[in-house]
Amino acid sequence: MPQNSPVILIVDDSLPIRLTLRTGLAKEGYTILEATNGEEAVRIVIEQRPDLVLMDVQMPVMDGFTAVRTIREQQGGQPTPIVMLTASDDVDSVNQAFNAGATDYIAKPINLPLLMMRVKFALRDKERERQVSLIEQQKENARLLFGLVYWEMKVNRDEIALHYDPSQQLQWLNPVPTKISQLIHLMRVADRQRFKEVINDVVANQRPFDLEVTFIVDHQSHIVRIVGQADISGDIISGAIHDITEQRDLESQANQLNYYDQVTGLPNHKLFQSLVENGIKQCKKLNKKIVLIVIGIRHLTAISNAFGASATDALLRLIANELKANMSEHAICAKIDSSHFAVKMRTDVDVPLETTMTRVYNCLSKLSKAWFIDDKEVFVKISAGIAEVLPDDKLSASALLRMAKSAQENAKSNKDITIGQYNAAQNTELRNRLNLEAELHRAVKSQEFDIQYQPQINIESMTIVGAEALLRWHSPERGLVPPNIFIPILEETGLINTVGEFVIKKACQQQVAWVQKGINLRIGINWSAVQFLQPDLPERIGQIARDVGIDRTQVELEVTESATMDDPHRNIEILRRLRHDGFRIALDDFGTGYASFEYLLHFELDKLKIDKAFVDNITRNRKERALIKAMNYLSENLNLVSIAEGVETRRQLDYLDALGVREVQGYYICKPLWPEQFETFANTFSQKAVIEE
Ligand code: C2E
Ligand code: CA
Ligand code: CA
Repeated sequence: MPQNSPVILIVDDSLPIRLTLRTGLAKEGYTILEATNGEEAVRIVIEQRPDLVLMDVQMPVMDGFTAVRTIREQQGGQPTPIVMLTASDDVDSVNQAFNAGATDYIAKPINLPLLMMRVKFALRDKERERQVSLIEQQKENARLLFGLVYWEMKVNRDEIALHYDPSQQLQWLNPVPTKISQLIHLMRVADRQRFKEVINDVVANQRPFDLEVTFIVDHQSHIVRIVGQADISGDIISGAIHDITEQRDLESQANQLNYYDQVTGLPNHKLFQSLVENGIKQCKKLNKKIVLIVIGIRHLTAISNAFGASATDALLRLIANELKANMSEHAICAKIDSSHFAVKMRTDVDVPLETTMTRVYNCLSKLSKAWFIDDKEVFVKISAGIAEVLPDDKLSASALLRMAKSAQENAKSNKDITIGQYNAAQNTELRNRLNLEAELHRAVKSQEFDIQYQPQINIESMTIVGAEALLRWHSPERGLVPPNIFIPILEETGLINTVGEFVIKKACQQQVAWVQKGINLRIGINWSAVQFLQPDLPERIGQIARDVGIDRTQVELEVTESATMDDPHRNIEILRRLRHDGFRIALDDFGTGYASFEYLLHFELDKLKIDKAFVDNITRNRKERALIKAMNYLSENLNLVSIAEGVETRRQLDYLDALGVREVQGYYICKPLWPEQFETFANTFSQKAVIEE
């Protein structure tokens, strides 16, 4: 569960409704409070200040409308968002809810996915409001801190009054001018005319102004920023002056050296390198380990293509802030190129690397999440590399950076966050990987790949309805290699496109061959994120289907949630196109990824494949059951078929059946089989076979 999980108060007199809401919300990581009537709700809101309230209307003791009104009357500070659970969404109930002071409403019967979305949005709005009021406060603090000087001019009379304490601010402006002409006289010649023009413009057009001018006093220049505006009559102009000499000096130094990243304001590669150089020296003196982390934001180009450059910059700034906020205060964060951040830290000699890695992982987990930019959700995946060294005389900043980078490059995977570490074994590992890569290149050429098929069963009719095609590699050196070992490498090398095409073709041919033998099944084909990047994907699949002469509705493309999330807008289009062409789409490993309901509603899908992870716990864990039930509910509402994967026992099957899941796949029914074995299985499989086992 995330730290500081938002607290939600559920107010409803019906136990079943509270139960449903509680389970659904708790699974999303929220902390739940409950009340059974309005009076209780008012008390809890005042005392415990939850982040959001879900409020039923009709309740004993005090109804929902009265409760909302009471809360609004009694509560000071930022109002708590309240979503009303109205009996219907007719104009009357909705009006009543808003009049009472509700933030939003949702009509019963409750549609859980929709509710989740509303909750998410309401919390987001609340957070935004909090940010805004925080900014207001900070502004006021800044004003106090900067020691702004206020002034008032009467232009017609050439009068100026400055309100300040000259011993503290603008010490150099002494004696204090009382005439505008005196003030102007102190400016450097180049600014005098400009200032006069601006003042005339303010009087004539009542426009506010914001100007930087330089005063020369006792041969010293002082840069000030002057802002001001005229009152309605235009006779009096008032505003503030701020001495920014020091700030400008620093800025020009920094600009000169060009040491900062333009987007995030963090040190750039150049500055970071010299900071690391210093860090190495210090660590040597203090006998501490220096730790360097390189953090890559994955698929940044795709994000930039989908959301635009300025949104991407905004995202990078948010990430930079979050990174700084979460790293220890002595750590130095930098942005070393367009998609990589880096952090320098030090640790005591006796702190094991695992501890540091865990710490780093926790920090990174704050970055790998859905970010909101221009109201759109962007998912960020991270691959990081860590190098930790007790420095000796030979260690250089660039060598250390190279180590962290190579650890980072080796750490890429499909997970949200991966961290690689640099160690001596890395060289061997690197060599092994290169060998495997070379073998795979050869495997593609000499066609060492093959496919097994795993049956998919409809629980009710106990008939085989489909088969998932699962790739296998017959390696002459290694034997039969499971896909988890080699698919990531195929993906990274781009070989997956060739192999993927082989799978589609071969599996479709198999389907057609089986139809001719009287076995008509839907065939599931796995699809990796990299394959999505092919520009002419739908055309290529369409061509294969035509060549093979397969009924497209019997081809089900299995895509994972994370694959689709890499570039959701583009992928929604691709999937829509494929579906339009007649293919079916299944969302694989459902529930393990981000499960953004918001996106799910945009994807055109036919099936949800509930991940094995949920099935594993189904007989033990009530929460898991509730979740499967919710998923099933969701898929039914979206008109999808749900299939549970990795079913290994009779008990799991019974539970799934009871929860309303329609199809299953797993070792309990059958392991993946070679085509001939599959035919035998298909011809002998019956309900009896399963029950008697
Ligand atoms: P997946 O799509 O989630 O496939 C299901 C995996 O679970 C398969 O592993 C299957 O053999 C295994 N499995 C099925 N029932 C059970 C069970 O009851 N218990 C257990 N423990 N496991 C079960 P496999 O064949 O090793 O495939 C692993 C992954 O490799 C697949 O996960 C899929 O993501 C990927 N993959 C397989 N073939 C292809 C392919 O042709 N193209 C692409 N892109 N990926 C593929
Ligand atoms: Ca699959
Ligand atoms: Ca799966």
